[in-house]
Amino acid sequence: MSRFWSPFVKDLVPYVPGEQPKLDNLIKLNTNENPYGPSPKVLDAIRAQLDDGLRLYPAPNADALKDTIAGYYGVTSAQVFVGNGSDEVLAHIFHALFQHGKPVLMPDISYSFYPVYCGLYGIEAQLLPLAEDFSIRPEDYRQANGGIIFPNPNAPTGMLLPLAGIEQILQANPDSVVVVDEAYVDFGGETAIALVDRYPNLLVTQTLSKSRSLAGLRVGLAVGHADLIEALERIKNSFNSYPLDRLAIVGAVAAFEDQAYFETCCQAVIDSREQLSTALAQLGFEVLPSAANFVLARHPQRDAAQLAAGLRERRVIVRHFRLPRIEQFLRITVGTPEQNQALLDALGDLLNG
Ligand SMILES: *Cc1c(COP(=O)(O)O)cnc(C)c1O
Repeated sequence: MSRFWSPFVKDLVPYVPGEQPKLDNLIKLNTNENPYGPSPKVLDAIRAQLDDGLRLYPAPNADALKDTIAGYYGVTSAQVFVGNGSDEVLAHIFHALFQHGKPVLMPDISYSFYPVYCGLYGIEAQLLPLAEDFSIRPEDYRQANGGIIFPNPNAPTGMLLPLAGIEQILQANPDSVVVVDEAYVDFGGETAIALVDRYPNLLVTQTLSKSRSLAGLRVGLAVGHADLIEALERIKNSFNSYPLDRLAIVGAVAAFEDQAYFETCCQAVIDSREQLSTALAQLGFEVLPSAANFVLARHPQRDAAQLAAGLRERRVIVRHFRLPRIEQFLRITVGTPEQNQALLDALGDLLNG
């Protein structure tokens, strides 16, 4: 705190990202990064961009990337927004499309950045409890609201809401923007982008950070009705004209163009997730059914904070949230088969010791 701070900053409650440890001999299963590197074609595209051209500003509207994404999903470029990571895209959505005076609805267990954006933009958040089995109940989203947002698959539960459930929420809320945050959809979900032409109130966000192994490049996107996209462009062009740099634009285009590599990596993560879930269950864990690149798991006889600390001593880091309902769970990112085995060995050691 300093006397130079505005009263607004004094009351802000920022998001706390997962640790990025300085030590490099750790097995890092705490922030849902992809264990496999980006496509070699992405690296080639970025290398080819490393020249005198960097003295020039990038294309302010990243049209090459918007066109690529539009072609990939069968929508028009006017239905696509891109930003510096989907976190930035989400921030603009809260700013541009959520109404004040009524609460924005979200699950009680979901991405903890959403309430932070509510705080930043002066929006009231209303957290609706997930069902006992941690699923989203579409029928709960039938109350007055200034907007609705949830991840699908949900994070940190990993659980998927089928498209029929999303349509139920859309139909009950024709006067609100409904945002489906698909950060993990490529690991086993079905994208709601297929619904955007039928629901002008639907906005779908995605990121290249997880399924396309590019968390370090910072690229996110939104797809929806052109009117929703225009609102986001108005915010973006009042904030930062160049959120995507030259390297990010060419890298992201190349990522969408290498479908074979993308599919191979996603399938490897999905296969590992199923093996990891089975192995955790054999160690006595209760594992929520995951459609993401992480699992949320609880051991009925062991304290989650102690398990997380014990894993850390054994050089494996996972995420533990000190939050109601999930404080006895660990969120474990799916790693390579070797990383998963190291985690399982460390857990076996902890449970037997
Ligand atoms: C990782 C994540 C994001 C943020 O992705 P970036 O594109 O890296 O900013 C957004 N939403 C959810 C639910 C996430 O887990």
